[in-house]
Amino acid sequence: MDKQFVVIGCGRFGEALSTKLVELGKEVMVVDISEEIVQNISQTVTYAVQADATDENSIKSLGISNFDVAVISIGANIQASLLVTLMIKELGVKKVIAKAQNELHAKILYKIGADRVVFPEREMGIRVAKNLVSKNVLDFIEFAPDYSVMEVLVLDEWIGQSLIEIDMRSRYGINVMAIKHGDDINISLIGTYEIKKDDILIVIGNNSDLQKIERAEI
Ligand code: ATP
Repeated sequence: MDKQFVVIGCGRFGEALSTKLVELGKEVMVVDISEEIVQNISQTVTYAVQADATDENSIKSLGISNFDVAVISIGANIQASLLVTLMIKELGVKKVIAKAQNELHAKILYKIGADRVVFPEREMGIRVAKNLVSKNVLDFIEFAPDYSVMEVLVLDEWIGQSLIEIDMRSRYGINVMAIKHGDDINISLIGTYEIKKDDILIVIGNNSDLQKIERAEI
């Protein structure tokens, strides 16, 4: 069966997340304390419920334990975020993702059982900064401390060379996962593939190795 999602807290992050999940064909229940917010999102998601998520009885009556994934996107009220995360985890939801305000908040979320903690503002800030200071970095996603996936325009010196000749792995310590050209994306790369002008590479590696192929904005 398809995974079912519950999003608790429908601020800017929760709203964008639940809307996208619905666009991707998923069933999504949204819980928010504000009646107005629930009204606004109710046409978009599968169910929208007004409830105080810190109230254990309300949460239990919503059958939250039947959901596969819960996203706790209450940010400003750290106490509420922690309480709800703990309750949801104790109800047995397998995957709990929580939004953090700062490092300490994140640390406590992990300690009480969050499976993943996200910092939307911080992550977006890093992505925009990378894009602003490098002329060839289009996107950058850090998926583990010090390791990222980067979308990068090819360097002039690579054009006309094959992947074997460029030898990214031993020259820079990074791996090419895919190559985009216009609307096409090639995910089954062979070593003889010859880099073309306007190709975009999706590469993975350690942040310090990835820096070797970034070119500063002049
Ligand atoms: P964003 O940056 O995503 O807009 P935020 O980090 O500023 O959000 P808040 O505004 O505190 O976070 O909360 C996000 C949403 O969570 C709001 O819509 C708010 O009504 C809802 N919320 C806050 N506390 C609770 C609660 N106890 N139960 C349910 N929803 C709550």
